[in-house]
Amino acid sequence: MFPSCRDFQCGNQYGKQKVSTVLDFLGNLTRTHYCGALRASVAGANAIIMGWVHRRRDLGNLLFLDIRDRTGIVQVVFNKETQPQAHAKAEQARSEFVVAVEGQVIKRQKANPELATGEVELVATNLHILNNAKTPPFPVEDEINAAEETRLRYRYIDLRRAKPHRNLALRHKIVLEIRKVMDEMGFIEVETPMLTRSTPEGARDYLVPSRVHHGQFYALPQSPQIFKQILMIGGLDRYFQIVKCFRDEDLRADRQPEFTQLDLEMSFPRQQDIFEVIENVMVRACAVAGIKAERPFPHMLYKDAIRKYGSDKPDLRFAMELHEITNCFPEEAKQKLQIEGNVFALAAPGAANYSRKQLDDLTEKAKSLGARGAYFVKVAPEGTTSTVEKLIGPENVKKLAEAAAAKPGDLVVAVSAKQRIKGTEAAALIAGQLRLHLGEALNLIDKTQWKFLWITGFPLFEWSESDKQWVSAQHPFTGIVDEDLEKLESAPWEVRSKGYDLVLNGNELGSGSIRIHRQDIQERLFKALGLTEEQLRRRFGFFLDALTYGTPPHGGIALGIDRIAMLLAGERSLREVIAFPKTTAAQDLMAESPSAVDAPQEEELEIMAAYPGLIRQNWALAELCDELTSVIDRSLFRSILPKENRFQESMSLIVSKAFDDARAVARLSKSGYGLQAAGLSRSLVESAINSLYINLEPEKHGGAYLRSIRESNLRLVRGLTPHADTPEMQEVLKKAEIIDTESGWPRRLIQRADAVGRPMYLYDVVYLMLSQILHGDVASVAGKLEEDRTGNFSIQIGPSNHWVPQALSTCFIGFHQIAQMAFKAFRIDETELEKVGNKFHELTQRVDRAAL
Ligand code: ASP
Repeated sequence: MFPSCRDFQCGNQYGKQKVSTVLDFLGNLTRTHYCGALRASVAGANAIIMGWVHRRRDLGNLLFLDIRDRTGIVQVVFNKETQPQAHAKAEQARSEFVVAVEGQVIKRQKANPELATGEVELVATNLHILNNAKTPPFPVEDEINAAEETRLRYRYIDLRRAKPHRNLALRHKIVLEIRKVMDEMGFIEVETPMLTRSTPEGARDYLVPSRVHHGQFYALPQSPQIFKQILMIGGLDRYFQIVKCFRDEDLRADRQPEFTQLDLEMSFPRQQDIFEVIENVMVRACAVAGIKAERPFPHMLYKDAIRKYGSDKPDLRFAMELHEITNCFPEEAKQKLQIEGNVFALAAPGAANYSRKQLDDLTEKAKSLGARGAYFVKVAPEGTTSTVEKLIGPENVKKLAEAAAAKPGDLVVAVSAKQRIKGTEAAALIAGQLRLHLGEALNLIDKTQWKFLWITGFPLFEWSESDKQWVSAQHPFTGIVDEDLEKLESAPWEVRSKGYDLVLNGNELGSGSIRIHRQDIQERLFKALGLTEEQLRRRFGFFLDALTYGTPPHGGIALGIDRIAMLLAGERSLREVIAFPKTTAAQDLMAESPSAVDAPQEEELEIMAAYPGLIRQNWALAELCDELTSVIDRSLFRSILPKENRFQESMSLIVSKAFDDARAVARLSKSGYGLQAAGLSRSLVESAINSLYINLEPEKHGGAYLRSIRESNLRLVRGLTPHADTPEMQEVLKKAEIIDTESGWPRRLIQRADAVGRPMYLYDVVYLMLSQILHGDVASVAGKLEEDRTGNFSIQIGPSNHWVPQALSTCFIGFHQIAQMAFKAFRIDETELEKVGNKFHELTQRVDRAAL
């Protein structure tokens, strides 16, 4: 068999036996140089370096270790003859061991041009092995083939590579520069809350349940939008923040559920003022990465961007503009080709020689993007040909080529869209995608260029197919072009916003707007978006109020820091500039989050599903039930229960089932499903009666109970054939049931309750009451009926407080009873149990007194 990489390393290089290394202490050792700092200029000096064993080469008398730290790699040589001790120690070193080396820097006889430190090496006099390491799952090298999943799972090893270090360092420098520029321009960094309420940026919120306020939630901010506007109302004048935002949306390769923004807002700004701030920031950030960006950045209207480039974030590093050529298709051809909207075309330079197969591929691509069809014209030197020549005629083919500004050698690609989407040029958007595809394929994109662009004149609304209504194209605080205000209600699709986007090389870096600063307009907009008065007050009441107390005109923007760092680092994935990124499935593979939570936390999280309207007294009852279950959990279930006699055996069965039932009753109750919880609590009543009954003659009754349970189960299992028919089933059930008589376990609950021999609150009152209400459809439906004073009925839907106290009290009394018997069986001190019992009495008495 071919040896795996691992076998090869361990077997041949290091030998298979496990060497146990004695580890050294760091003690007073002090690093004098970083590995990457050793250059010819320090030759002759003594040095102490610290880092990881990057590679090891054993040439017998000479052993080489490449040592790596954040700054680079340097070669260390161990000489068996001159430093036998250090050499012997070096023999124990393995990849990724952590070491300190003392030695002298010397000039190499032959420099290694591959290494920045290649002119020198360190001759070791002493090696300290500070820690060992398992063989890493992949080598620490820039060019690694390990699957990204493995890299993310072992991110700490992945991070040891030079590239992530470079990227994170660059990101740090960019952010540092941004902070400096913002400060120079008079902006103050202010932190806004992470635990807050929903901000409407069009994604789902990440929610955090409040432990204190049952059934209520914080939302993690999708952006600090509302807060930064309120900071303007608060007179801060110029705010910025490098801030985490959270959006729960379907992830794509270039999206992260949590991401970082440069968020800013300023008072009394003209659009131009905001552009100048950002241009300054971007030019300086680019300079950090050694990139020269030109300002001012050009502007383009949204509609021109769509019509010319088929995108709201056009890549201006190459031309190949789109042209609207609908009129080259005569009516008849349009009908034949089922063309409805506009047709857009572009001329791909030098692609006239595309093969049939290449054209088919383009058609496929266009169709996958939603095209009705793709039509081609080849403008070859020997003549113009077209796939639609028969349909539109040679005149139109010529006209089309001209309209697309095609030159000899070009391939004209025209597309129509399958579906019309209100307010968009669907065919242009498809052609825009083809433009990018062809731009790459034909190598038209000059990767050395940095083309910034402002897009303005966005529509305020966009049509949502799923909601079948107009929704905010950006967030609903975006300002409205003054002269379009009057169309807000009558022709919303014509209303333009005061929003703008910043684009770099075909990437949207961020967006912003001059805001609505008047409460009357803000309210009109919310209404135009279909928010009812009540929704409005609930979601934005505080903000609308704030707007009424003297809000200055204001505006701002937010730029994606991750994306900026990615582009400036020349990376294609955001994950390359984020230390601990999430996968496209929103997981952190290293920390294994999201994850299930431990039991106590899970109990706290039950309040997530809690009914927010549950009254205090019901919460208090539910908490007492929780307290009871945790007393029982602590006293009984933390160790293995003894089974020395029938009493113990039967009680362990009963109490463990009751435990699960009680938890379920509490959960259902907290979420306001009292009727269902009460139904379940009947089984606790029965178990409580069973416990009392067993307690009368623990050995005898305990034995009978166990026999009845075990035997009837066995009979059921044995008796049932895979496809039992009804009579067969009845037979089996009957057999299983006779065990009650055979085992000596009284069959009917009333027999057991009577035998207990004293007034049984649980049986006499609770069981009957619950049975009456809960038996049968009619009764349980009746539990959902409410009658008002006038005798009218209404049906109660969803959670409420109904039946919650009955369910919880029954649960508590029953479970407490069972626990007393179990504690007795296992001879456990009952003090704690008594304490919760007393609390329950106090609470119920208080409630009763209040009710009286
Ligand atoms: N809040 C917006 C966003 O996060 C940016 C802005 O309007 O300032 O996209």
